[in-house]
Amino acid sequence: MKSNIEKILSTVIHPEFQKDIITLKIVNDIKLNGDSVSLTLRSIKAKDAFIKSIGKIAEQRIKSEIPGIEKVTIEIKERATASKKDSPPGTLSGVKNIIAVASGKGGVGKSTIAANLAVGLHQMGLRVALVDADIYGPSIPKMFGVEGALPEAWEEDGKTYVKPLDVYGIKLNSIGFYIKPEDALIWRGPMASNVLTQLITECKWGDVDFMVVDLPPGTGDIHLTLVQLLPVTGVVVVTTPQNIAIADARKGVSMFRSDKIDVTVLGLVENMSWFSPPDMPDKRYYIFGKGGAERLAGEMDVDVIGQIPIVEAVMQSGENGKPVALDKDSVIGQSFQELAHAVVHQTNERNKTKAPTKVVQIKK
Ligand code: ADP
Repeated sequence: MKSNIEKILSTVIHPEFQKDIITLKIVNDIKLNGDSVSLTLRSIKAKDAFIKSIGKIAEQRIKSEIPGIEKVTIEIKERATASKKDSPPGTLSGVKNIIAVASGKGGVGKSTIAANLAVGLHQMGLRVALVDADIYGPSIPKMFGVEGALPEAWEEDGKTYVKPLDVYGIKLNSIGFYIKPEDALIWRGPMASNVLTQLITECKWGDVDFMVVDLPPGTGDIHLTLVQLLPVTGVVVVTTPQNIAIADARKGVSMFRSDKIDVTVLGLVENMSWFSPPDMPDKRYYIFGKGGAERLAGEMDVDVIGQIPIVEAVMQSGENGKPVALDKDSVIGQSFQELAHAVVHQTNERNKTKAPTKVVQIKK
């Protein structure tokens, strides 16, 4: 029976080390008593963001795969931290500007904008990093053709470091490299915040002019975590022209401007603004309505810094691993170059007039 449990647990993979928890010797003291199982999980590093979720997965698998087991008790023993210092290991010290890309709702093209904005900034000769923090649906690995990649990780002075991938000259790290889509539900909530912390602070970014962070959609805890963790220079809010998307974008702008978060909104990007048939490039069909982002911009005193048309190549590029902005001379490529220039301009203006964003300290 005990070996049965070990067999089941050997299917639970630690996302960071990419090995199962039996091989990693994380599981200890398995005890079986009637319909109850108890065991201990001992983390192999201090502050293991994954250990609690591993516990939940282990519990679910034992209950679902061993008939008659009603109760699973898992004790988690975390390895003591080598040093009491809680601050990030300086991996962000060379990063000049952090631009978050947010949206009020999913499906408006936030990841598409983040990915192609990163490409546009790189085309301007800037040093660019892209962080995919969209825990609910990390799509950047697919867009850059690096699905299933695992960045190199190593231990140094008792801390884990990760080397970002280098794709099309952009330094890349994604939550998608560490979690499986089928386990995504378990990583939500507070665990997501821990994983996000690791994703950013354990990565050796080096010198970076612009770090673009693709946030999860909506207005939630994870956004608060980000500003507690990172000095975000500014945020770009993506919307489509429909009223419902605009209403959610309004919530997003308000959240970033709230006292609790207080991050500069660099501007709105209206995605899917119009459609031009390939054989009539001068004709514009405003499929989702016209002027939605402009109205919100007027109301909230924020600029529209980009309008991106609906283009079939954008959808294809989401599948073929090459962001559409890599084709500099295409109409869509030019839209993203304009957006990149606008982001640089707004960031420079922001940096002229305001002090660097401080990492938020939550007052209880
Ligand atoms: P989000 O990150 O907001 O969930 P995505 O960037 O994943 O949205 O985009 C959702 C879908 O819409 C994807 O299939 C993407 O290829 C497509 N899409 C996004 N922007 C455009 C556009 N301007 N033209 C055509 N398709 C687009």
